[in-house]
Amino acid sequence: MISKKMTALLNDQLNFEMHSAYVYLGMVAYASSLGLNGIAGWFRIQVKEELEHAGKFFEYIQKQGGDVELKGIEAGKVEFASAASLFEESMKHEKKVTKRILDLTDAAKKEDDYSTDSFLLWFLNEQVEEEAQITDILQKLAIGGKTGNSLLILDGILGQRK
Ligand code: MG
Repeated sequence: MISKKMTALLNDQLNFEMHSAYVYLGMVAYASSLGLNGIAGWFRIQVKEELEHAGKFFEYIQKQGGDVELKGIEAGKVEFASAASLFEESMKHEKKVTKRILDLTDAAKKEDDYSTDSFLLWFLNEQVEEEAQITDILQKLAIGGKTGNSLLILDGILGQRK
């Protein structure tokens, strides 16, 4: 069993993961509209991962006997300043997610809720991976430039993500 308060916090995060999927789906739409299909494919994998994250919260809440809530999902944007800005915005978004997972971990520790604390550890590690991945892309853009051939090379590289 988890507390009512913890259930509410985890439901908020379930919703935020769905919103994250929407954020990345908007990026798929924008990259596709530019013909950057490798980058679009990379973001499509992000969408899939975010839906899996939402699923993990869903299952955990249910296993702990809590009531799942499915709230409205905040809208996602489909217009962006440039292809490079997709990655700058992704980084900002992932930092927000990291902060949320840290706050959740804090809340679990304050309640002596060791199970939720342990459940959240996977997400903390996942956030390290997410941020490192995007940092790598931003470094490539900083070296090669944010437009032209550099972007096409990046499109080719990111298109290989499985
Ligand atoms: Mg996520």
